[in-house]
Amino acid sequence: MAIDWDRRTCARKGHVTYAPDDPRLRIRLHADTALGEVWRCLRCGDFVLGDPHGSGPAAEAPLVPRGKVLRDLFVLRFLAVERAVRGVFIVLVAVAVWKFSNSQDAVRRLFEEYLDVLRPVFKHFHYDLDHSPVVGTIQKTFGYKHSTLLLVAGLLLAYALVEIIEAVGLWYAKRWAEYLTVVATAAFLPLEIYELTEHISALKITTLVLNILAVLYIAVTKRLFGLRGGRRAFDEERRSASLLEVEESAGVLV
Ligand SMILES: [Zn+2]
Repeated sequence: MAIDWDRRTCARKGHVTYAPDDPRLRIRLHADTALGEVWRCLRCGDFVLGDPHGSGPAAEAPLVPRGKVLRDLFVLRFLAVERAVRGVFIVLVAVAVWKFSNSQDAVRRLFEEYLDVLRPVFKHFHYDLDHSPVVGTIQKTFGYKHSTLLLVAGLLLAYALVEIIEAVGLWYAKRWAEYLTVVATAAFLPLEIYELTEHISALKITTLVLNILAVLYIAVTKRLFGLRGGRRAFDEERRSASLLEVEESAGVLV
């Protein structure tokens, strides 16, 4: 991918500079120019004019996500937004089901009245409303018990809550949220596949593909369940990608 996440982030949030105490390391990040002092940005690597944003031992330098680690953060935030939107939508559906459960009879009466008015009109066009599949489906929902509808609304709400918790956790790159997303999403995959056997739609296929990719992507890149060395390897990767670490090992080699 040609997108330079480091420079993009720096353009949006500004550079991050740091003056390490270790003079061998310091010299690799610092230069004096005709315009004044410049320090290397820990994210994009550019030299930035002005005082460093922080200073101290190299070990206490901020761990700035960059490169692949930063790209993964962007992907997670995209998934977070997708989940938040889905969560809010499902809450709305749950509220609609709950409202419908409370006024089922009133809605049914209104529907029957409309049906009585429309029946002759449709008859004129040789369309029998009483044998229409759409009308049949709607009439079937009137037959659902109040308790069944409440249960459906409750389950939808619980599902929406999981999606919203996932969204918040993924946004802040919390490891528990990555586990929750992988487990909860994978748990619903069989249901989504079953749904497809009932009725195929573009939205369902897109959702299924996105969810399978999300599960694989998070599990592999975040090294969940001990994959590819697990947590330790993940932390190692984050640290070794940091510019200070890169310069430090370069300094040792020179
Ligand atoms: Zn920068």
